Amino acid sequence: MKKATKPRKSKALPTFETDVHTEHCCVRHGCAYGQDFNCSVVNKEKPQSYICESCAREGIINLDILKEVQNGGKPHCPHCGHILP
Ligand SMILES: [Zn+2]
Ligand SMILES: [Zn+2]
Repeated sequence: MKKATKPRKSKALPTFETDVHTEHCCVRHGCAYGQDFNCSVVNKEKPQSYICESCAREGIINLDILKEVQNGGKPHCPHCGHILP
């Protein structure tokens, strides 16, 4: 008789809610609605859902790399994926 394995929650997703800021703003490049806006992304209350165009231009092609850069890492080349000097 086989033991039934309990289904485990794979990768607990963060429970952050999204808002207009998580969809449009960037923790590095600021709030899309202006600096005076109380931005949940800039305030680091919520993680942004997407990288912004400025990030992409700097070689930050996904949120993992953005996180790396936020932690002091280097951006990667958007074309070859190499870490930029
Ligand atoms: Zn914002
Ligand atoms: Zn950005």
